[in-house]
Amino acid sequence: MDHFLYRDGALFAEDVPVADIAAAVGTPFYVYSSATLLRHFRLFDEALEGMDHLVCFAMKAASNQAILKTLAQAGAGMDVVSQGEYLRAKAAGVPGDKIVFSGVGKTHEEIRTALSGGIRQFNVESEPEMAAISEVATDLGVVAPITIRVNPDVDAKTHAKIATGKSENKFGIPISRAREVYAHAAALPGLEVIGIDVHIGSQLTELEPFEKAYLKVAELTEVLREDGHNIRRLDLGGGLGIPYTRSNDAPPLPVEYGALIKKTLGHLGCEIEIEPGRLIAGNAGLMISKVIYVKSGEDREFLIVDGAMNDLIRPAMYEAHHDIDPVIEATPGIEKSTYDIVGPVCETGDTFAKGRSMAPLKAGDLIAFRSAGAYGAVMASEYNSRPLIPEVLVHGDQFAVIRSRPTFEEMINRDTIPEWL
Ligand SMILES: *Cc1c(COP(=O)(O)O)cnc(C)c1O
Repeated sequence: MDHFLYRDGALFAEDVPVADIAAAVGTPFYVYSSATLLRHFRLFDEALEGMDHLVCFAMKAASNQAILKTLAQAGAGMDVVSQGEYLRAKAAGVPGDKIVFSGVGKTHEEIRTALSGGIRQFNVESEPEMAAISEVATDLGVVAPITIRVNPDVDAKTHAKIATGKSENKFGIPISRAREVYAHAAALPGLEVIGIDVHIGSQLTELEPFEKAYLKVAELTEVLREDGHNIRRLDLGGGLGIPYTRSNDAPPLPVEYGALIKKTLGHLGCEIEIEPGRLIAGNAGLMISKVIYVKSGEDREFLIVDGAMNDLIRPAMYEAHHDIDPVIEATPGIEKSTYDIVGPVCETGDTFAKGRSMAPLKAGDLIAFRSAGAYGAVMASEYNSRPLIPEVLVHGDQFAVIRSRPTFEEMINRDTIPEWL
């Protein structure tokens, strides 16, 4: 459920008409709902009630500091995958002991920054990385808390680009080698092994792959404990999918996911961490765009809109579907038209939707791309020298620009010309 609903035919973000925001900031832009972000965070938090736990928002899904602060004030930790994300989380006021550091290639500099600023744990992805963390920690005279990410070799049954838990994927260490790698970690001076980490992929729409992975983690916990490791924290990753269409079967709910965690891992007495990104932010954000032209092709009509693949790359990159709705609803009963909805970028890949049936639209009309709050703004680029689009956060009847649109001068002046020119 989200807080983007129609009132008398006009789309609202909480208590703010979306058209009012468009008039104030111009199009295209992203708009997020605080109430939706918080609702989704709380669903996870409540699903794990009764277990010692921390919900760490995977901020790669949506990393604006205003979003981080909204969630952090409700008690969320953060899952970061780079130095930039770590520093952003800190800048948003998240304490180091609520930040976990994931990612396959942490550099010495990144490790040093996190160890100096405070970190809850590193989720280690390889033996060379383990050695690097130990080295930097020893150098700083500290001990780094770590989990090791195991690759459980389960099929997440999701899009190939976001499946991470099969043995052919680059992530984690093979679970079959876990005992050996844990023994190696325990022998390194700068590390304290505290737990196990697993993350099998994103946009999972069934519980079964999670169940397979978590059963393997449960078994491994017992084996490692017998080997003498004090396994007391399990980081179970993110990945629970969201409904991108109204028509599809809905993915499992956080409460069902929480019940699965309790069933598979509850008996171990470990602290549980989860790292949801998409489910918290995805349906908490829209991209709003304006129709520039309606163009008649040979056999179809194109809606050419002012948003493009550089602003929202998911359709081009993952063949992703976004529901697209008018900001002002048409008169009920009006005959629908069928459109290919495209951006202005010079690539055929800049196509958001094909053959979409919608009430007729004309130049100047506003449309909303649903479910754009996760992996939307964060993946935007300035391809075609299109400035990054602004982000807006709504809170009840208030809204604020949380990242402004750069001017063309700002964008252009980031280039520097060498003196030989
Ligand atoms: C991407 C990622 C997540 C978040 O995945 P969602 O599908 O957005 O919930 C969590 N943990 C790790 C390690 C990730 O790479």
